Amino acid sequence: MAYQPKVIKAEIVSNNPKNGLFEVVVNLKDRTSCRLIYEKKADNATPFASHINRLLNEPCPICRKDFLCDCMTKYKEDISEQALELVGTP
Ligand SMILES: [Zn+2]
Repeated sequence: MAYQPKVIKAEIVSNNPKNGLFEVVVNLKDRTSCRLIYEKKADNATPFASHINRLLNEPCPICRKDFLCDCMTKYKEDISEQALELVGTP
């Protein structure tokens, strides 16, 4: 079965209005945590998640590695949309 990330908590951890970059840390239902880096091109534009990094608190839910892997990149859009629904756009 395909991995289905479910964001249960999201928090804006940094925000730079000057360059439109902000970061959100999300907690997923399976205890995975990720940091998302968003770019906002204009004031009313929908932010775009340019990067996702899994935090190393738990092994990867997909490949089970406990070091850096690229698995979450495939779910970046899904996770970033869910995160924005929770925190809104700063
Ligand atoms: Zn992985």
